[in-house]
Amino acid sequence: MHAHPDDESINNGATMARYAAEGARVTLVTCTLGERGEVIPPQLRHLTGSALGEHRRHELAAAMAELGVEDFRLLGGAGRYGDSGMMGLPDNDDPGSFWQADVDEAAALLAEVVLEVRPQVLVTYDEDGGYGHPDHIQAHRVAMRAVELAEDAGWRIPKVYVNRAPRSVVGAAFVRLREELPGLPFDKSAVVTDVPGVVDDGRITAEIDGGPRCAAAKAAAMRAHATQVEVAPGERYFALSNELAQPLFPTEYYELVRGEPVGKRENDLFAGTDDATEVA
Ligand SMILES: [Zn+2]
Repeated sequence: MHAHPDDESINNGATMARYAAEGARVTLVTCTLGERGEVIPPQLRHLTGSALGEHRRHELAAAMAELGVEDFRLLGGAGRYGDSGMMGLPDNDDPGSFWQADVDEAAALLAEVVLEVRPQVLVTYDEDGGYGHPDHIQAHRVAMRAVELAEDAGWRIPKVYVNRAPRSVVGAAFVRLREELPGLPFDKSAVVTDVPGVVDDGRITAEIDGGPRCAAAKAAAMRAHATQVEVAPGERYFALSNELAQPLFPTEYYELVRGEPVGKRENDLFAGTDDATEVA
């Protein structure tokens, strides 16, 4: 469950590639086409509004091909919900924006997907959307409400995770980044607080390392979102349209917010879900 095309690859690309390769059914639901995103390549900056949305839809399809994910959908169909833009902008007030969406109505659309797919695991953002973007906050609200609606209608998702990043790992990655910055195609470094979902290490309950193949698939998927993401050669760093270098994490981290963890730090999101059943 994601707000814009690119969020899935940046946050969960390695995880999605791993489970798709293992034969699990991976479904991505994206809430908006990100029509208000800032475009990085100068030759594509003429793309705005619905033209940008359409372009990003193709980028998303290309990214999913890299991850091996065949089932990807737009919540309510393409164009149902518009990108709300960054917090505090007048864009947030657009009645067609996802931020203005009725949570129950959007959640009902997601619950339909849940009832069709019957997932064992759902991944979303924390209540702050990871970093305060209105569409990410709304995606969290809609996802959590959809979990309730689906349960009322007969399918209880055994485990719900939010995307996280452990403070120690992020801090160490930025120390390395600053040392390597002169060799990167970016002038400045982002800071730890620019990374969504950073928390104290003790809150991390799952860690997914898909190995080099999944790491490469993640980098390729991020690269497919060329209007939004620039991946540095070597695939250890990337930048968004703010041109601030950040670490590209091949290992992805999660906090379980619903369900029972298996052990202190899981390395399989599906651990313990074998007996998932319909709600009587
Ligand atoms: Zn986003």
